[in-house]
Amino acid sequence: MAKNAKVAQDIKPLMEYRNMAWKCWKCGFCRMSNPDEQKTNKYSNNCPRGTRFRFESFYGTGTQEIVRALTCDPPELDITDPAVLERIQKIVYTCPQCGACQENCNPTKDLEPANASIALRNWLVEQGHGPLPEHQPLVKSIMNYDNPWMQPRAARSKWAKKRKVKDAGKEEVEVLYYPGCTAAYDPVIQPVAGWVTEILLAADVDFGILGKNEICCGSTVLRVGDRENFRKIRTKNLESLNSTTAKTIVTACSGCFSTLSHEYKEDLNMPVKHIMEFVDELIQEGKLTFTKSLDLEVTYHDPCHTGRYCDVYDAPRNILKALPGVTLIEMQRIRSWSWCCGAGGGCRTAFPEDIAGFAAESRLEEAFETGTKTLVTCCPFCEQNLGENAKRTYDRFGIEVKDLMELVYQAL
Ligand code: SF4
Ligand code: SF4
Repeated sequence: MAKNAKVAQDIKPLMEYRNMAWKCWKCGFCRMSNPDEQKTNKYSNNCPRGTRFRFESFYGTGTQEIVRALTCDPPELDITDPAVLERIQKIVYTCPQCGACQENCNPTKDLEPANASIALRNWLVEQGHGPLPEHQPLVKSIMNYDNPWMQPRAARSKWAKKRKVKDAGKEEVEVLYYPGCTAAYDPVIQPVAGWVTEILLAADVDFGILGKNEICCGSTVLRVGDRENFRKIRTKNLESLNSTTAKTIVTACSGCFSTLSHEYKEDLNMPVKHIMEFVDELIQEGKLTFTKSLDLEVTYHDPCHTGRYCDVYDAPRNILKALPGVTLIEMQRIRSWSWCCGAGGGCRTAFPEDIAGFAAESRLEEAFETGTKTLVTCCPFCEQNLGENAKRTYDRFGIEVKDLMELVYQAL
């Protein structure tokens, strides 16, 4: 299906979603996964929030109804009533902003339920009712330490210490590798930065990093609805990104990728590529060749921020096809109908079991049903969330979660 309004782009003030909210047909099309296939099994539903809570208000239809009621003159919902406010906050902040609802609604009804959900969250923050208390430490840490985990700035480039990586702040480079906070600081995700570095070195790419001068892209702050603080981070970050000689920015973080691609685009001096796109190009150009066979059956999880937010669907599949000994077995919900892992929009922080745990478990079951034992993806947040839940459910599903760059590195 073609679509006009992209997920999470050009988010307008809440009032501008009023007419669309009135036009919502309440048809329920927005909750379906790939309606062309008319699935009627447990994978027919594609809204993690609605599937978890089942009441209509938690689906895209509910978003539209809340927007409609709040933007009426006078409003039909009174947020000065604590019970009403609490209910709205729960609905708004349990949406991982996956964008799946918009995939069906926009091409057929021309409405934007996912974008309305983001606008609703932004509006709540403007009214002083968001983000949630669980999100506050992350926001404070990003504002004070340039990363979400209150880690010292100097520790950001620790992963690169024993590697031959140029300082893009001081030396000329063709490519700026932007690992992002998660790969820089989270010990579970940190190996990704090493694999990416080895891959770029193997392909003779002239690249560098900003090291301890790298700043958080602000994605977390933006996703919880705090646009004012996001603007401050963006200004600071643009200065450091635009100060290098790089002609391209490459990142392996889907959150950084979608934020830099959309929210920074206008003022960034160079294009941004996800490492999957970059590696796919290196393979096509014959600059990256593989010598080892991996003998592995895998399934691939499309992260929302590379998939629905940025339309990167072919690159990971091309790479998996090019890896010797790797067979891709697809799940039922893939590409633009991919099921969200549940971590996005601050849900892993505020609702680790209700949304993040629930959605991840559903995805792991879907992966298990392909018969493979390895779920591959290329997003630190999906990897954290699916990885933790894969360990929790290992007795049932026996699934391991891997970053695509690990497979690429192993096959070199
Ligand atoms: S948001 Fe769109 S798809 Fe969902 S019920 Fe309304 S009109 Fe139908
Ligand atoms: S963005 Fe995702 S979780 Fe939120 S309402 Fe739409 S489909 Fe449901």
